[in-house]
Amino acid sequence: MDKYLVLLDCVPCGTERSHMATYTGNVLVSVVCATCGETVGPPPALLVREYLQDLEGRVSRKPGRMFRSAMHHPLGFFLYQLPRGLICKPAEMVQEFETIAYTARHRPVNRAPAESVTPATWPANIS
Ligand SMILES: [Zn+2]
Repeated sequence: MDKYLVLLDCVPCGTERSHMATYTGNVLVSVVCATCGETVGPPPALLVREYLQDLEGRVSRKPGRMFRSAMHHPLGFFLYQLPRGLICKPAEMVQEFETIAYTARHRPVNRAPAESVTPATWPANIS
């Protein structure tokens, strides 16, 4: 899970404010205004669907990435990357699942994301 501090126009604040954008993998989970707490993001059904598609893609590409890494940097792969992945990856996955589940459960279903941060791919009214 990655978090980025970005400047965006906030509709309730009426001006540009700092926002925290949270991603799991390649999926934008939420954007939260640091001043007023306004939260926007994809509707729950779309969030879960995009996350599962992204996860499927990441999992399917993982063996190839690991193989290439092992071929190019065998020592670093077996001494650092592999042990680190075996220790850290399960906890990272649990954190991603918890973030998606919490966000999907607590985000209003019928609320469309704000226009100012809506990517062109988000449908306006998915329930
Ligand atoms: Zn705000």
